[in-house]
Amino acid sequence: MRKPNLAEYNTFYKVFDWKKEQSGLTGLPGGKGINIAYEAVDRHTEGQLKDSLAIRFIRKDDQREDYSYGMLKDLTAKFANILRKLGLEEGERVFSLLGRVPELYIVALGSLKYKAVFCPLFSVFGPEPILQRLSRGDARILVTNAQFYIHKIKGLLDQLPSLKYVLITDATEDFDDVALSFPKWMERVSKDFEIRPTNLEDPALLHFTSGTTGMPKGALHVHQAVLTHFTTGKYVLDFQKGDVFWCTADPGWVTGTSYGIISPLVNGVSSIIDENEFDGMRWYEILEKEKVNVWYTAPTAIRRLMRMDLVPKERYDLSHLRLVLSVGEPLHAGAVVWGENAFGVPVLDNWWQTETGGIMIANYRSMKVKPGSMGKPLPGVVAAIANIKEEDIIIQDQPDIQGHLVLKKDFPSIFRAYLHEEERYKKCFKGDWYVTGDLAKKDKDGYFWFVGRADDIIKTSGHMVGPFEVESTLMKHPAVAEAAVIGKPEASIGELVKAFVVLKEGYEANEDMELDLIGFARKTMGPAVAPKEIEFVDSLPKTKSGKILRRLLKARELGLPEGDLSTLEKNQ
Ligand code: AMP
Repeated sequence: MRKPNLAEYNTFYKVFDWKKEQSGLTGLPGGKGINIAYEAVDRHTEGQLKDSLAIRFIRKDDQREDYSYGMLKDLTAKFANILRKLGLEEGERVFSLLGRVPELYIVALGSLKYKAVFCPLFSVFGPEPILQRLSRGDARILVTNAQFYIHKIKGLLDQLPSLKYVLITDATEDFDDVALSFPKWMERVSKDFEIRPTNLEDPALLHFTSGTTGMPKGALHVHQAVLTHFTTGKYVLDFQKGDVFWCTADPGWVTGTSYGIISPLVNGVSSIIDENEFDGMRWYEILEKEKVNVWYTAPTAIRRLMRMDLVPKERYDLSHLRLVLSVGEPLHAGAVVWGENAFGVPVLDNWWQTETGGIMIANYRSMKVKPGSMGKPLPGVVAAIANIKEEDIIIQDQPDIQGHLVLKKDFPSIFRAYLHEEERYKKCFKGDWYVTGDLAKKDKDGYFWFVGRADDIIKTSGHMVGPFEVESTLMKHPAVAEAAVIGKPEASIGELVKAFVVLKEGYEANEDMELDLIGFARKTMGPAVAPKEIEFVDSLPKTKSGKILRRLLKARELGLPEGDLSTLEKNQ
């Protein structure tokens, strides 16, 4: 097995230098700056990677469609030429509303090449959340398919005066002056496009955050973010020459763009993209057949795999797999241990968020894993635990103190704005620090442990209770498949801890089970923290990126308005 790129964490953290890492990028010819699309695609076509596999798409019917770096260069240049022909200005917004199909990837990279700002939307969104994002993001061009156009977009056009064109991926002819045929226009334009000078601070990507609190916010990223995508690919995902990488995230969520598109391409490896949604057996088959070396997925998928009664490494040839990584929500210690046995390789949790644009805290192949911990800050990133009072921020040096997770704001991929929401943006910063909105602890060895969102924390009888801690405990009970915990106002104790529980198959939801679970939690965590109420449910409401929507459970519990549900996974 090849050695990890990051040989020893502590030494490397001390010597790390972003400037030095930047020399691993090429820069536009003639010293004209750094453009994400050039680093991801064009630069590789000057050398040996020109004909090698950049992306393999697996269609719903299992057909494979391969794109080399050379093909991607031509196709993305063509799309950039379409944008020019349609009169788009630099910095204007191109949106996509597509499943994980090749056109989405061509549009993303082609927009970056043109220096437009690319914003991907989840294809499962209905008209209302689409309207909200297209109008808040001032979309000029949207790329979608005929079905979505007819059912979700056409009726909104009157309300979207800035939207000039909709390109339809499966229309053979233009529908009218607004709805144009993507393939026809791709045929018409040249495959030569010269990228204009690109500054590090030029805007590149817009991501609406998952909206677990309040209205969705449009986090804006710049071309310099590619440096984070590059280094995290190298040191966290541990990309090695010739690797096959699979990121299961949809580009509608930031992970699917930063790590489903940019990071693997910038590092010159081959990516797998599956058009299908989660399907345990199919996923194991893909890992085997495509000889995947590095697999990046999410706790929600790992939990679902855990529920299937099988040890994949015994049934499938996973000998190529070197690393499994997870992001998006806490990866419980039990899942880390299960994963290591099930796959026979380390399962590495890492932490980041839409606003940070790339991985910030991680477990590394060469570092001892403490199951349940998010790991240590990326070299080049300073993370700390802080007490925040109004404008004051006090960094905690003592270990094991719970506080706000904050990051020094000087890393390349930090978001540069919430579009049109300057006040909301400013509120995220205190002095030199970016306040993430998460609560965490740091142990004496420098490992970070997630506690919960700052706004999910429950105060009960004077105790601060992190819902994640209670959920983790409940998950240790053999009958529990999933759990979500909220604080329910209760006069005598402030808030009462209430748990919503999904049971594993074969267990019955009844009073005995409720008493059993409460008893179990009281014994393990102490009566002050353990849930006092348990409600059995068939499923938990989640965002499309797999995060439990505690806010929604709470609103339903209290009979309050459910708020923005645009990111809710359907049928919940
Ligand atoms: P998003 O911006 O939608 O990617 O959500 C980011 C949020 O997801 C973070 O602020 C955390 O609350 C949560 N999150 C992401 N990764 C992790 C992780 N490894 N452990 C715990 N929470 C996580």
